[in-house]
Amino acid sequence: GERTFLMLKPDAVHRGLIADIIKRFEQKGFKLVAMKFVKASEELLKKHYEELAQKPFFNGLVKYMGSGPVVAMVWEGLGAVATCRAILGETDPAKSKPGTVRGDFSIHIGRNICHGSDSVDTANREIKLWFKDEELV
Ligand code: ATP
Repeated sequence: GERTFLMLKPDAVHRGLIADIIKRFEQKGFKLVAMKFVKASEELLKKHYEELAQKPFFNGLVKYMGSGPVVAMVWEGLGAVATCRAILGETDPAKSKPGTVRGDFSIHIGRNICHGSDSVDTANREIKLWFKDEELV
């Protein structure tokens, strides 16, 4: 089945929202195939966000994402990439509808709770970056 990479950001962990957010993807019917709690290195975060390297918020983003542990996950199921993005809502929580993760739990674009891969190719790249093959069940 199709796989996507989701990551609960430090704000989600800090605010005690891990279970509430994971529950939504489980309830939808996706299968969790890998999960780990990580304090990510600056090197890993810079690779993860390499496409955003020229953005004015890049340094702040990398610093923030390394400020506390994240929950890195791989989820599998039909249409996982697009449907998980829909469950998350828009990048900007202010544009996310109630009922979405970002619409329900966040107000600031720099603290938007959870990352989700934006395409199947990106998902494959991110899964390889964050997990070893033997960590996927
Ligand atoms: P993600 O990759 O986290 O799922 P996304 O693909 O919806 O988000 P991108 O444009 O790739 O959005 O931005 C990656 C992350 O960078 C966003 O989730 C957000 O945390 C941060 N970000 C984006 N735009 C801004 C901004 N204008 N100011 C601060 N942070 C931002």
